Amino acid sequence: MNFHYIFDVSREDVRKLLEDRGITATLQRIEMAWLLLKKNQHLTADEVNRLINGRFPKVSRATIFNNLNLFVESGLLKKLELKSGVSVYDSNTSAHHHVINPESGEILDIELDEHSTRDLQASFKEFLKINKGLDLQIDDIQIVVRGSLAPSL
Ligand SMILES: [Zn+2]
Repeated sequence: MNFHYIFDVSREDVRKLLEDRGITATLQRIEMAWLLLKKNQHLTADEVNRLINGRFPKVSRATIFNNLNLFVESGLLKKLELKSGVSVYDSNTSAHHHVINPESGEILDIELDEHSTRDLQASFKEFLKINKGLDLQIDDIQIVVRGSLAPSL
């Protein structure tokens, strides 16, 4: 099931996603995964904690972190180091780049088409070949751009 671009997932969808990955789909895990996956968002561990505790006040931090790690290991979420020293959990697990507004902390997903991605990879490979005499084999490419954002005219 491809859920990368469908953020209005139902709890039933989430139950299937968990079971497909061999994760025991307890009500608590379903609710937690649903809260995280129902929209495109980038949350710090503290933000996840507040989100889950808003629904389940008695769930311990340790349980929340164990579930978070489980979701990351099974590919339901991506864990990124977008801000210095702070991990962010990304509900969009498809290949994409980010723009961060350092002032507001806003994080936006940028999805480039295949052509742009190929150009980007070629630029990195060419730079290293010419300047360092190295052949680069790219496994993954994630660009983080920091800058202010304003409505375009
Ligand atoms: Zn993202």
